[in-house]
Amino acid sequence: MSRSSVPAIVPCESYEPRQLREALTAALDTVGGLDWVKSGMRIGIKINLCAARRPEQAATTHPAAAAELTRLLTERGAQVVLGDSPGEPFTPMVLNYIYALGGYRLCEEAGGELNRNFATHPVTLPEARTLKSVSVCDWVTDCDAVINFCKLKSHGLMNMTAGVKNLFGIIPGTMKSELHFRYRDPYAFSDLMVDLNEYLRPVLTLVDAVDIMEGNGPTKGTPRHLGALIAGRDVYAVDRLCARLLGVGEEEIPYLTAARERGLMPPEDAPLSLGEFESFCLRDFQRSGATSSWFLITDEDSLPQRLTKKVMAAALRSRPALFEGCTGCGACARLCPAKAITIKNKKAVIDRKKCVRCFCCQEFCPSGAMRVRRSVIGRILSR
Ligand code: SF4
Ligand code: SF4
Repeated sequence: MSRSSVPAIVPCESYEPRQLREALTAALDTVGGLDWVKSGMRIGIKINLCAARRPEQAATTHPAAAAELTRLLTERGAQVVLGDSPGEPFTPMVLNYIYALGGYRLCEEAGGELNRNFATHPVTLPEARTLKSVSVCDWVTDCDAVINFCKLKSHGLMNMTAGVKNLFGIIPGTMKSELHFRYRDPYAFSDLMVDLNEYLRPVLTLVDAVDIMEGNGPTKGTPRHLGALIAGRDVYAVDRLCARLLGVGEEEIPYLTAARERGLMPPEDAPLSLGEFESFCLRDFQRSGATSSWFLITDEDSLPQRLTKKVMAAALRSRPALFEGCTGCGACARLCPAKAITIKNKKAVIDRKKCVRCFCCQEFCPSGAMRVRRSVIGRILSR
C-alpha cells in the first residue's frame, strides 16, 4: 500500500496558535509536507461554515486552526482563499455574518482572503453515479488546488461528518436542500457525496478534532474535547480513521459504504499516530440519535437479508421532532426541501406525510429545538 493513503493523527491540546502550528506542521510532514505549494499558487481552503456559530460551539472549522494553515501556505508564497456555502442562501449578507460570528478575521490577519465571490457555474461530472451536471461555487474551481479542512461531528443522516461530507458545501446555498429532496435515500445521497469528492479531489484533507461535536450535531450538538489534528491525502482513509476515533462502524456511515462499493476505500492500515493512538479513541461518543443507517444494504447481502433490513429500517426510522425552545423563526420551514413544515402559533409543525427525513431542519434550527427522535424500537435497541 502506498503510504500516501495512510492518514496521520497528532495531539493538539488547544487552539493556541503555537500549538496549532506545531501540530499542523507535524501532521502535514507525516503525510508528505507542503513542498508542492509554489509561490503564486492560488489555494482554496474549504472550511466548514455550516451555520452562524461561535468557535467554541464546535460546529465550524476553528478559525485559529484555519488561520495557522493559512499562515503556513502564505509563507510559501501562496495566495489563500477560504470559503464555504452553508445551507442558507449563498449571499454576502449571510456569509459576512458567519465570518464575523465565527471569528474568521483571524484568517485575514494571517494573510488569507475570505471568499466574497458568490458566482456559481455548472460543471460536468461524466463519471458520476448521480448528477452528470451540477452547479458549484466559482471560488472553488478558480483555485489551483483545494485543501479540505473539516470539523469532526455527529450527523443526523450520516452518523458522522468529516472530510467527505464537507465537500457538499461546494454546491451553492439552498440548492443543497433541493438535492437532499432529490436524493432522499441515504445511499443515493451518499453516492452524490462520493461523486463530489471524485470530481474535486482535494489535495489534502485536514480534520479539526481538537474540540469535536457530539449529540445533536452537526450544528447544535455538544462540544467535546478530543485533542487531535488529522491529516491525509486520501479523504476516505481520513474518514475511516475518524470513525474509529468515535467508535462508529465504517459500515454505519452510508458514504463510506458508497465509497467501498465503488472500490475507493484504500486497504485498511494503521494510522500514522504521533502519540498513543488508543488515547484518542472515545468509548462513549454520543450520536445524533438517527438510526437511518443502521440497516444499510450492501452488495454482499442475500435477498432475505435485504428484505429483513428493509423491514427493520422502516421500523427503526428516526424522524425530526420539535422539543423545547422553538422561537417560530421559520428557518426550518424555509429550508425544508419537502415543504413539510409550517409555522403555526409561533411554533414549527411538521407534516409527517411530506417529510423525507433529510434532517435539514434539525441541522439548521438555530435554537436546537428541532432534533432527531429515534423510533421506540430504536430507543430500546440502543440502550
Ligand atoms: S424549529 Fe427551530 S428553525 Fe424551526 S421555527 Fe422553531 S426555532 Fe426556528
Ligand atoms: S421536515 Fe425536516 S427532515 Fe422532514 S423533509 Fe423537511 S427538513 Fe427534511
